[in-house]
Amino acid sequence: MTHNTNPPASKSPAVVAMGWLHTARFLTTAPELHFLPALDVPEIAFVGRSNAGKSTCINTLTQQKQLAFASKKPGRTQHINLFALGKQGVTDAVLTDLPGYGYAAVPRQDKIRWQQVMANYLVTRKNLEGIVLMCDPRHGMTELDEILLDVIRPRVAEGLKFLVVLTKADKLTRSEATKALSIARLQAGGGEVMLFSATKKKGVEEVGQLLWQWAHPHGVATPPLPVAAPTELQPPG
Ligand code: GDP
Repeated sequence: MTHNTNPPASKSPAVVAMGWLHTARFLTTAPELHFLPALDVPEIAFVGRSNAGKSTCINTLTQQKQLAFASKKPGRTQHINLFALGKQGVTDAVLTDLPGYGYAAVPRQDKIRWQQVMANYLVTRKNLEGIVLMCDPRHGMTELDEILLDVIRPRVAEGLKFLVVLTKADKLTRSEATKALSIARLQAGGGEVMLFSATKKKGVEEVGQLLWQWAHPHGVATPPLPVAAPTELQPPG
């Protein structure tokens, strides 16, 4: 009688990354940076113009239908929304959904306020590990995307990770996709660029694996640090 002494086949990096992303759960929401809890785990921020496909992308990556649509609830659209990630309820990273920008109906005063909140977050958030910029390649990078790129450029130069996700790739022909990739690569200034389609499930595992690597730079989960439960998080003062 023979025994199989081989260890069980280890999970592929894509399976590990997608399993990890699926653990995403709502952590907290805040109207401004100073209301956010200081965290020691790596944080990955999702930014983009309204309608770029950010909520759909977050929901697809986390394999949850409603997660990022919490950010679209009345009163929360201009908020910074945090989602905790990590197995067995132990948070080892955080996804941040920043308010979508460029929505025409938003009053000018709110737009200016948004820019300040966003710039403040992107420049000063200590545990920020990477930024994912959603861009609908049929419209390309807009003026507001360029402003954002200018804000983050010094931090990217210092080592902050940066990914441009070209959303709704199912709407592009092959040659349009190739062209969109090369234009975005020039604009991303050292950051990565990936095509993504929620409807065709294109680029999901590629983006998922990159985010996992950002949050686990040494290949294994960093020792988990305790993070307070959502109900315990209170704005200071
Ligand atoms: P957000 O404002 O950036 O959060 O954008 P949403 O996620 O709400 O998406 C805006 C619109 O684009 C919605 O009508 C989505 O159904 C559509 N959309 C998002 N992702 C895709 C995609 O991968 N393919 C296609 N064809 N449509 C998409």
